[in-house]
Amino acid sequence: MSRIYNFNPGPSTLPLPVLERVADEFVDFQGAGMSIVEMSHRAKEYDGVHNKAMSLVKELYGLPDNYKVLLLGGGATLQFSMIPLNFLPEGKSCDFTVTGSWAKKAYEDAKKIGEVNVVYDGKPDSYLNLPKVDELKLDPKAAYLHMTSNETIGGVQWQSFPDAGRVPIICDMSSDFVSRKIPVEKFGMIYAGAQKNAGPAGVAIVILREDMLERCPEDLTAYLSYKTHWNTDSLYNTPPVFAIYMVKLTMEWLEEQGGLDAAEKMADERAGLIYGAIDEHGEFYRCPVPEHCRSKMNVVFRLPSEELEKKFVADAAAEGMIGLKGHRSVGGCRASIYNAMPIEGAKALADFMGEFAKKHG
Ligand SMILES: *Cc1c(COP(=O)(O)O)cnc(C)c1O
Repeated sequence: MSRIYNFNPGPSTLPLPVLERVADEFVDFQGAGMSIVEMSHRAKEYDGVHNKAMSLVKELYGLPDNYKVLLLGGGATLQFSMIPLNFLPEGKSCDFTVTGSWAKKAYEDAKKIGEVNVVYDGKPDSYLNLPKVDELKLDPKAAYLHMTSNETIGGVQWQSFPDAGRVPIICDMSSDFVSRKIPVEKFGMIYAGAQKNAGPAGVAIVILREDMLERCPEDLTAYLSYKTHWNTDSLYNTPPVFAIYMVKLTMEWLEEQGGLDAAEKMADERAGLIYGAIDEHGEFYRCPVPEHCRSKMNVVFRLPSEELEKKFVADAAAEGMIGLKGHRSVGGCRASIYNAMPIEGAKALADFMGEFAKKHG
C-alpha cells in the first residue's frame, strides 16, 4: 500500500490509524455480527459511539456544562440558514464579518432571513486581509456577531476574537475546528462541517450554549430548530451514523496525540515549514496574505506565472503530493495542512518547493 500526501482542502486527509480501524471493524462491529451502518441508531452499540463523539468534543475544548455538542446533517451550509432562522428575530439585526467566500455565503443566506449589518468587508482587499479585532465597530444590541474563523479558500485566519460584550459570537470553524485552543466562553455557538479536520463529510458539529435556546422561535419546523436537537441529543431522526462514528475515532486519535495543545503545536510546525519555504524563496513564491492573519490550515501562494503554477501542481503530484491547486475562484496554489497531515508531509512539500524554485527561478 502506498499513501500519498493529500493537501486537498476538504474532504481531506484523515489519520491512517483511523482509516485502518474503520476497515478492520467495518463488517463486524465489535462482535455485533453486523456493520455499524447496518444497525439501529437506537442500538446500544451505536449509542456508545454517538455519546462518545459528543463527549470527546466537549473534553477537547474543555466546554463548561452549559454547552452541548450537536451532530447534524446538512453540512456547515445548512447552518447558514438555521442560525438566522433560530437567532435573528424581526426588529433586530446581526453583525457580520465578511472575510471571504464562506463568510459571504453565510451572509447571503442570513440576508434573506433578516437584517444584517456588515462590520467588516474584505472585498476591497480581495479577501486577503483581516482587520484588528479592536477595530471592529460592533453593535452592542446585535442579536449575534457572525464570524468565520478560517477562510479555507482565501487562506486568512483570525488569530484572536473580539470582545463582543453580551452579544454572543457565532463562528463557522469548519476549516480550523479542533486545531487550536480558543476562548470558548466568548461563543454562543461554534459550528463546523466535519470533513476538514474532524472526519468525513456528512455531519456538522455544532457547539451550542444553553441560553441560546431561549431565542429559538416556537413556530420553526422540527429539524430546523436547535431545540429539537438539544432535547433529543441529536437523535430526533436518523443521524449520519457512519460520519459520526468516524468523527468519534478521529477525536480519539486527536486526544491520544495530546489534544488541542498538540494540535496547535503541530499546526505551528507545519505552517512554519510551508511559509518558511515561501519566504526563503521570496523571489519565486509570494504569499498574498499579510503575516498577521496567515492561515495555519490553508496556505495560499503564487508563483511567477500561471504556467509555472500548473507545472508546480503537476510535478508535485508526480512526487506523491496532491491537491495543491488553488480554488478555481482565486487561482494560484494552496496547501491545506489539517491536523491529520503528518509533519513529514509538510517537510516533503517544503523541500519540493525549495528544489522547484532553484530549478525554475
Ligand atoms: C467547507 C466549508 C464550509 C461548507 O461546509 P459543508 O459541510 O460542505 O456545507 C463552510 N464553511 C467553511 C469555512 C468551510 O471551509
